[in-house]
Amino acid sequence: MRARLAGEIEAFTKRFGIAPSLSVVLVGEDPASVTYVGAKEKASREAGMISEAVRLPATSSKDRVITAVESLNRDPARQGILVQLPLPRHIDPDVVVQAIDPTKDVDGLHPYNLGLLLAGRPRFAPATPSGIQQLLIEENVETSGAHVVICGRSNIVGRPLAAILLGRGKGANSTVTVCHTGTRDLKVITRSADILVAAAGQPDLIRGDMIRPGAVVIDVGVNRINDPGRKSGFRLVGDVKFDEAVDVASLITPVPGGVGPMTIAMLLRNTLVAALASRAGK
Ligand code: NAD
Repeated sequence: MRARLAGEIEAFTKRFGIAPSLSVVLVGEDPASVTYVGAKEKASREAGMISEAVRLPATSSKDRVITAVESLNRDPARQGILVQLPLPRHIDPDVVVQAIDPTKDVDGLHPYNLGLLLAGRPRFAPATPSGIQQLLIEENVETSGAHVVICGRSNIVGRPLAAILLGRGKGANSTVTVCHTGTRDLKVITRSADILVAAAGQPDLIRGDMIRPGAVVIDVGVNRINDPGRKSGFRLVGDVKFDEAVDVASLITPVPGGVGPMTIAMLLRNTLVAALASRAGK
C-alpha cells in the first residue's frame, strides 16, 4: 500500500511542485509515543512526503499545545496535522483534538470527522480502523453479512471501526457487536464471531477457546510487558494469546507487525486526501 501511495504522492508533487505534508505534534517523551512518531516521520518521508514533528516539553500548558496546533492550521503548506496521543495528564485531549482544523485532521478524531463517519459520509476515517478494513479487503475476507465482534469501544479504534463496518460498501456490510468492560459472558460473544477484533489493551485477553474455529482474528493491542531477557527490558504483545489462537483461527495478525504498519499506511493516505482537497480547483 505504501508503494502504491508513493506513486500517487510522486504524481501530486510533479503536478503541484510541492509534496504533501504531514505535521505531528508530540508533547513529552512517552517512550511508545516517541517510537510511533519516529515511525510516522520515517514512513511519510520514504513515501515522498514532507514530514515535520513539532516536539514540545511534557510541562507545556494546554494553551501552548493549542497555539502550536493553530499555527499549523493557518499554514497552507501544512495539509495534514495530528496530535500524538496520549497527552500528558494535565492536558485534556478532547480540547486539543477539537482545535485541529477538521480539513487537516488526518487522524480523523475531530468530532466533526467522527460525525461524518457515523453519518456514513467519511472524510478522514481514523487510521487504525481504516487499516483493519484494508487488511480484510486485501486478504479477501468476506465482511458482508459476517458477524464482527470488536472488543473495545474507544474513539480511536472500537467505535469508528464499528461505524466503518456497518457501512454498505466493500469491506463492510457486517453485523457488528461491540464489547467493553461492562460486557457479560465475553467468551460466548467472541465465539460467535466470524471476525474477531481485539482492541482492549489487555495482554492475552483473548484465549484460544474464545475463538470460533476458522474465524479471522485481528489483534490491535500493543502492550509492553516486562522481559528482563531483552536489552530493552520489555517486549510487545497483543490482546490475543497468539500461540493458542494461531491453531484455531484461519487468519491472524501478528503483534508487532500487523495492524500497526497498516495504521501508518492509512495515515499517509489520509494526508494525501487532505493535500488533494486543499488543491481542489487550483
Ligand atoms: P482504550 O484504553 O482507550 O480502550 C480500551 C477499550 O477496551 C475500552 O473501551 C474498554 O471498555 C475495553 N476493554 C478493556 N478491558 C476489557 C475487557 N476485559 N473486556 C472487554 N473490553 C475491554 O484503548 P485504545 O486506545 O482503543 O487501544 C486499545 C489497544 O490497541 C491498546 O493496546 C493500544 O496500544 C492499541 N492500539 C494499537 C494501534 C496500532 O496502530 N496498532 C492503534 C491504536 C491503539
